[in-house]
Amino acid sequence: MDVFGKLGTYDFGEVHFKLDKATQLRAVVAIHDSRLGPALGGCRFIEYDTDDDAYIDALRLARGMTYKAALAGLSHGGGKSVIIKPKRHFDRVALFRAFGKFIEDLRGHYITAEDSGTGLEDMEIIRTMTKHVTGIDPSHGGSGDPSPFTALGVRRGIEACVKFKLGKDSLQGIHVAVQGVGHVGYYLCKELHAAGAKLTVADVDKLKSERAKREFGAAMTDINDVAKVDCDVFAPCALGAGMNDTTIPHLKAPIVAGAANNQLLETRHGDDLHARGILYAPDYAINAGGLVNVAQEVKGYDAKLAREKTLKIYDTIWDICERSKKLQAPTYKVADIMVEEKLAAIRV
Ligand code: NAD
Repeated sequence: MDVFGKLGTYDFGEVHFKLDKATQLRAVVAIHDSRLGPALGGCRFIEYDTDDDAYIDALRLARGMTYKAALAGLSHGGGKSVIIKPKRHFDRVALFRAFGKFIEDLRGHYITAEDSGTGLEDMEIIRTMTKHVTGIDPSHGGSGDPSPFTALGVRRGIEACVKFKLGKDSLQGIHVAVQGVGHVGYYLCKELHAAGAKLTVADVDKLKSERAKREFGAAMTDINDVAKVDCDVFAPCALGAGMNDTTIPHLKAPIVAGAANNQLLETRHGDDLHARGILYAPDYAINAGGLVNVAQEVKGYDAKLAREKTLKIYDTIWDICERSKKLQAPTYKVADIMVEEKLAAIRV
């Protein structure tokens, strides 16, 4: 592994490693950029085939967090941590306590949160070792589950897209196809239903689709057909890389706006959407509500303030749409440029 070469590729930054034999902790904290403030980003706890895979995952994810935080106007840099899930039996409490100590040793330079494979209980364990952790239980002054805030921001982003592309001031009667009705997808359906939108949903877990049908009158479709639905908005809320050579030619929706991270398989798919006249709301711009919420927790949690800031995602998406039209450039590129201009303007 060309460690410093990879740092160059991802335009870093700093990386910290921790090995604790007693608990089997093998962790990486990647801090991509801290010019806007302490790095904030979740802790991923999954199995990796190789240490290299874990390292690259941390670098890639941390870089994405810099962009998300900067565009959302937060005083935070981008960071991410990865704990390599042990293949042998392990003591989860001891492992997350050791991780908490690692975070404490970084003295607030990186603040952790939930991500794939970690939850509220793990954050509570980390909290016994350090205060540099967010997404903790509301009963301890934390902000809890970020999904409703992510969904709120996505609804606002959809509203901006619908206004910009279709000239409509409300979501009344707007047909949205939601791919994945898990944590965020469910709350998004709730938001959209309350705003009068018509829903079609698909999830690999039928029970989740059925709940959306029962509670919000959503039509159900097959997971292989949801991107092909003749609707106004396609909202990817499942896995990443959903915008690719296979799906894009079949899209009928004039707008793609959803919560999933890394929706474009490759950046050229953003160019393809643009060339086809499909308005794509850049993922890290529209799905920042959860991050806005945990960032509020760092300052002392205030749900009202977190909500107000999340509502502003409308303005960010609108701004991206306008610039994209003016520059005749794809929205994903415009969002990147907006962040890079912001970071370049900071004196260090
Ligand atoms: P989740 O795991 O709760 O929900 C994902 C849902 O997608 C699940 O119900 C799963 O069954 C379903 N799914 C998986 N593959 C599918 C497929 N091929 N077709 C249809 N459905 C499929 O996750 P989540 O927390 O709701 O996050 C959803 C997406 O949003 C992820 O990409 C995540 O990275 C991103 N995101 C989440 C948050 C948050 O606050 N949770 C914040 C920002 C971004």
